[in-house]
Amino acid sequence: MNSAIIAVGTELLFGQTVNTNASYLSMKLNQMGFNVMYHYVVGDNPDRLRDTLERAFALCELVILTGGLGPTQDDLTKELVSEYMGAELEIDERVMAELREFFDARGRVMTENNIKQAYLPKGCIPLYNRTGTAPGFVLTRDGKTAICFPGPPHEMKWLFENGARQYLESLSSKSMYYKVVRTIGIGESDLETALLPLIDEQTDPTIATYAKEGECTLRVASQRDTPEEAKEAVEEMLSKIDEIVGRYIYSYDDEELNEVVVKLLADKGLKVASCESATAGMFSSYLADVPGASSVLGGSLVTYSDESKTALAGVDKSVIEDKGVVSPEVALQMAEGARRVCESDIGISVTAYAGPDIPEGYAPGEGYVGYSYGEISGTIHLRGMRNDRFRNRNFYKMTMLRIVYELASKGEVTFR
Ligand code: AMP
Ligand code: MG
Repeated sequence: MNSAIIAVGTELLFGQTVNTNASYLSMKLNQMGFNVMYHYVVGDNPDRLRDTLERAFALCELVILTGGLGPTQDDLTKELVSEYMGAELEIDERVMAELREFFDARGRVMTENNIKQAYLPKGCIPLYNRTGTAPGFVLTRDGKTAICFPGPPHEMKWLFENGARQYLESLSSKSMYYKVVRTIGIGESDLETALLPLIDEQTDPTIATYAKEGECTLRVASQRDTPEEAKEAVEEMLSKIDEIVGRYIYSYDDEELNEVVVKLLADKGLKVASCESATAGMFSSYLADVPGASSVLGGSLVTYSDESKTALAGVDKSVIEDKGVVSPEVALQMAEGARRVCESDIGISVTAYAGPDIPEGYAPGEGYVGYSYGEISGTIHLRGMRNDRFRNRNFYKMTMLRIVYELASKGEVTFR
């Protein structure tokens, strides 16, 4: 069934409020097997909301609205949806009683405009709201269904789970199942090219790629008659994907790389230590975001200046002078220093020019990541970067994490 979401509220158009309701509802509707075809955002304006309702219902049988159900003059959603569906508004005694109770309990006098909230369209399924005062409702006519939710996200979510979900389940004939696969070390266009034979020949499951900072994500989704069929179709597709790009995949369950690395190191009983210049501790901080990091993070040396590289990590002063502070030699000594000083199994380091001012002879963002683990050690030359300090530093962090992941999982580094 095709569906659309209309978010109502001028504050959304001003950019003051982010339309999180649409993303929440989209996720839920997709999981339940509805095709979400459109998101609309419209201000608190009767003509434009009327017009938006016309457009949405011309294309979709199910339209979900959020916002504009409150007590004030600019709250128009209920009135206009009822008008569109040809339903009159009438007092709902339960809402009326609950409103009185709500105000009595707080020792407040109910203003006249609050009574507006007790009106619901005739023939609707009310969605009684225990987290706020405005009820939502489901209204159906001639095969068209409108579901209205209040704007505050916690109320919308509560009403979705306690009322609307049950109704929607009875409406949906399809089941959706999807998995989000995370990759690192391959760009979005390369990933898509590698998977093109699969993408081209398939209408279900669908495969979608999207790039995130320093990594790339794949969503594999199937819509079938039963949840079991959808799951089986996704799993079959995942094994085909695995054959082609498996070496870039670090999670089949939408996990963050830091979670995966902490789990992996804990499983192997390994500790990692970092020596960080350009990232100034971002690597260790990111690992420490994960509960249980204390068992795998040996320590971190933040060595921003040349002197601290020597004093804390034991990098030879003469090597810095001869080779430059951004050099493979220095990166390697930093990694070895961290490993030694923090008594850890793996040492990882970065020294780089994050920008925007780059010394002559270096490219924007150029730098080196060093690693040391058992008998294995080496450096990675980071090139072809942008002149964007924020993105570069994030890329260094992700590269360090990826190398630790490779060392711990395969005992080698394939990253080039
Ligand atoms: P309303 O039901 O229109 O009175 O909305 C009440 C409040 O809910 C607004 O002031 C916003 O803070 C919030 N809100 C409304 N619509 C949305 C939306 N689409 N996404 C997130 N928050 C919203
Ligand atoms: Mg509003």
